Amino acid sequence: MSEPSTRIDELVTRLRARGYRLTPQRMAVLRILASSKGHPSVEQIHQQVQADFPMTSLATIYKTVTLLKEMGEVLELGFSNDSSRYDGNKPHPHPHLVCIRCKEILDPEAPSVGGLSELLARETGYKIVSHRLDFYGICPRCQKRE
Ligand SMILES: [Zn+2]
Ligand SMILES: [Zn+2]
Repeated sequence: MSEPSTRIDELVTRLRARGYRLTPQRMAVLRILASSKGHPSVEQIHQQVQADFPMTSLATIYKTVTLLKEMGEVLELGFSNDSSRYDGNKPHPHPHLVCIRCKEILDPEAPSVGGLSELLARETGYKIVSHRLDFYGICPRCQKRE
């Protein structure tokens, strides 16, 4: 699904279509989500927004991210011991690489796992609606440091 507009334009259009006001702070959140490849947490987004808008509260960021998640425009990756991380570029489920040292999260260039979903559905009778596939490891940068 490649549309001519950029991801940030898509997010803006969809929020506007639902009648949401786009405050400068909310625009900053969209820009960060659309441009970062590192799957930021709400706290990391907050820090970045505060660089331009020092008065922005964590609750404001949280509300915007939650709204986008409910709209299906952001994929949330929850972790039991760490803050959730968010992917605003690819909102559909996809495999992730997670560094257990520095907590970097990447989207690997991996073959699609759609075939696996179909196989499971066929064999179990389940209607598969989502999946979660994380690979844990130590990134090259952290390996050099050890
Ligand atoms: Zn690392
Ligand atoms: Zn991702």
